[in-house]
Order: sequence, then structure tokens, then C-alpha cells
Amino acid sequence: MNDLSFLNDLGAVVAADRAHVWHHLSQHKPYETTNPRVIVEGRGLRVWDATGREFLDAVSGGVWTVNVGYGRESIANAVRDQLVKLNFFAGAMGTVPGAVFAQMLIDKMPGMGRVYYSNSGSEANEKAYKMVRQISHRRHGGKKWKILYRERDYHGTTIATLASGGQPERAAQYGPFPDGFVTVPHCLEYRAQWSDADYGRRAADAIEEVILREGPDTVGAIVLEPITAGGGVIVPPEGYWPRVQEICRKYDILLHIDEVVCGLGRTGTWFGYQHYDIQPDIVTMAKGVASGYAAISCTVTTEAVFDMFKDDASDPLGYFRDISTFGGCTAGPAAAIENMRIIEEEGLLENVRLMGARLGDNLAALKEKHAMVGDVRGKGLFWGVELVQDRASRDPVPEGVARAVVAAALDRGVMIGVTNRSLPGFNNTLCLSPALIATADDIDTITDAIDGALTEVGAQANG
Ligand code: PLP
Repeated sequence: MNDLSFLNDLGAVVAADRAHVWHHLSQHKPYETTNPRVIVEGRGLRVWDATGREFLDAVSGGVWTVNVGYGRESIANAVRDQLVKLNFFAGAMGTVPGAVFAQMLIDKMPGMGRVYYSNSGSEANEKAYKMVRQISHRRHGGKKWKILYRERDYHGTTIATLASGGQPERAAQYGPFPDGFVTVPHCLEYRAQWSDADYGRRAADAIEEVILREGPDTVGAIVLEPITAGGGVIVPPEGYWPRVQEICRKYDILLHIDEVVCGLGRTGTWFGYQHYDIQPDIVTMAKGVASGYAAISCTVTTEAVFDMFKDDASDPLGYFRDISTFGGCTAGPAAAIENMRIIEEEGLLENVRLMGARLGDNLAALKEKHAMVGDVRGKGLFWGVELVQDRASRDPVPEGVARAVVAAALDRGVMIGVTNRSLPGFNNTLCLSPALIATADDIDTITDAIDGALTEVGAQANG
């Protein structure tokens, strides 16, 4: 039997990590001479690393995931109780937590009807793409097969989701990619591509131009983040969403909203799209669904989409012939039920609205104070701070400067992130997404650390 005593010896744990773990999104060369950071424990918004250092985590587990905060015993207990009763059964049959969570979810999503379970955001999006392709075959002779996606959006890390990713940096060196994914322009007004006063409508009209160029009878769906996350925290301008909906209806194009980041309260409503009075056909979600207490993702559709897979029961190919083995794990929905109960009973949507407004105000004050802050944008507890060399030219700071700000905030005990401006070397937007339980003190601690970090890095840059 293996000796697991080293589990309690953090020095040995760090050595094992350094020797054998291949970290996500990481260049490992520096770990030849330094230790990787190993996170050992979390409570609320705080985490502790293997050296005992405490941090306020302003990015919910690094990738906007731990919505209800760390250390939730009630979720751990719900998962434990479910696991000893039934840990798994393949998704061709139902399970109790799977059915209960589906009902709870649909209650929060008027107009939607069905929940398809899998394990990650990428996978949930792949399922959606397969649905669109199969609908094309069943209804349109295979012709309406193209899926539109937007510059700067991200939908996952698999080959097909990278093919539909608007961040070239992520896709570089992983091609060739499958056909049928077509890009539409981003809608970030700060980096405006048109001079129209009605910018939202203009940016949405750009989608129609792509549809007309490709041929409306070849386009099956468009996938969009409600608020772009990793592409620089982009809140679509006024007028954008109603026009997108109008265009989709006009050309019989399914509207797929990727709520992997915004879902489950991040922006102050259950889902990001619910700020905009639109009715999607497909909604995907993952990260905040169970706040990282278990792996779960969902592809949610309207009954109209679902019905297209059962209207010809005599066709042996007529149903959605897809499986995700671990979509049958019960830990995911068991955790998700308790996660949703916490958001509801602790009034976290309201807290997000209040604390989000405070965070927005604090960041606006930092923009007044620091010339390096070019733009501040966000909604709820989801904000981006775009750093520029010069406000007039809006030239982005080199990525090294943004990373120096992140490091200086870390020195002050606060973990923040930096997001992707789509081009290698140009990640220049700080990102903030603290847990939905953040207090006014937490918010002020976060923005004080950024204030100090900007002062320090600004002084270095000028000195
Ligand atoms: N969609 C969006 C908007 C995301 O931000 C992400 C991940 O960051 C994904 C999809 C992919 O999710 P996952 O990493 O769980 O596959």
C-alpha cells in the first residue's frame, strides 16, 4: 500500500507538485528554480497557500468559479449524503438530484425547458454545437450548419470550441480546426470599430452583414457570451441585444448564450442574459453551477429545440445520440441544488447588486486617480480595468506591466487576474470577480490593493 503520510507534510506535497504536476496555462521553466504555489485551504473569500500565506481571492478560484465562497459545509454534506446513497448512474436514466436540480433551474429560466448534463463549460458548448448540427441535418438538409461566434469571446478549450473562439492567442499552434465556425466583430465601444452614435445597434448590424455574406440558409446558430469574460470583460452597449434577437428571428438562427461565467448570479441576476429581455434557444453554464464543489455543466434548451429530437420516433437516428459518462455523476447536481439554495436564501443576488455598485464606484475613483486606467467596465461582481500607456492614444500597456500590477496586488495579499486582449503579449485588462458573498470591507480591501499596486507600478514605469 502507498504511504500517504506525506499528505500532511506540506514540504513533501509541494515537492511532489513541482516534480509531477503539469499546471494549466503555465510555463514551467521558472519552477526549475522556484516552487509553484500550492493552495491548501479556503474559507469564505480567503485562501491559504502551503507556506501559510493568506490571500483575499478576488477572482473566485482564479477563474470566476467559487460563487458562494470556500468552505461550505452544507454543500460538502449534501454531496456526501448523495454519494453514499447513489454516486453515479449513466445519464440514459434519471437520478434524484439530476431531476430536482433540473426543475430548480428551469424555474429560474422562463421560456427554457430541458437540461442536458455534462462536466465542463467546453463540453456543454460542444453538446450545443452537436444539437445545432443535428437540427441542420434533420430540418434543413444539412445546409444550415454554420455557427457564428464573436471576436474576443471564449467558449472552451477543445478543438471545436477553440474553432469557435474569438481569441487567436488561445488557438495558435493547435490547428487545423474543423470548418463551419464563422467570426463576427466584437462590440467593445472603447475599442470602437465604427463611429455611429447608436453603437450597440451598429455592432449588432455587423452580425447581419456576416449572415448575408455567408448566406442566411447556411447559418444555424450564433454563440455569444452575455458579457465577454476572458476577452476583456466586455459589457455589450445599449441596443445590442434586442437587435441580435431580431436578427436571429429574421433568419431562423438559434441564439446560444454561453453563461459559463455569468451564470448563477455573477452579474446580479440568475443569468447574464436576463438583464437584456431576450429569449435564447440554448443556454450553457458550468463554473458557478456548483461553485467548484463538484464538476457539472448544463446545456439548457427550449422545448421547441428539444422537440426537434423527438418528432420522428420511427427514425433510428432521430434522437440526440450523445453521451457524457460523468454527466451521470450525482455529486454535481447534489452540489448544485445546495449552491442554488444558498444563493437564494442568503440573498446573494441582492448582495451582488449592492457590492457590485460599490466595486464599480471604487474602480471609477481609481480611474480618476491613475492615468494608466483607460477604461473600467462591468456588471455585478464582474469587472475589468483596462490599462493603457496613454489615455489619448489608448495604446495598451505591455502585458508585463499588467502582470506587474497583478504581482503587486498579490504582495498586498489580494489575488486579481489579467484577461486576454486576444493577441499574444497584449493582456492588459485586470479582472475582478470576487465571490458573491463579498462584504463592503472585502470590496474596499480589493480596491485598496489595486490602488497601491497601480501607484507602485506607475512609479516604476515613470522612474
Ligand atoms: N465559456 C466561457 C465563457 C468560459 O469563460 C470558459 C472557461 O473559462 C468556458 C466556456 C470553458 O469552460 P471549461 O474550462 O469548464 O471547459
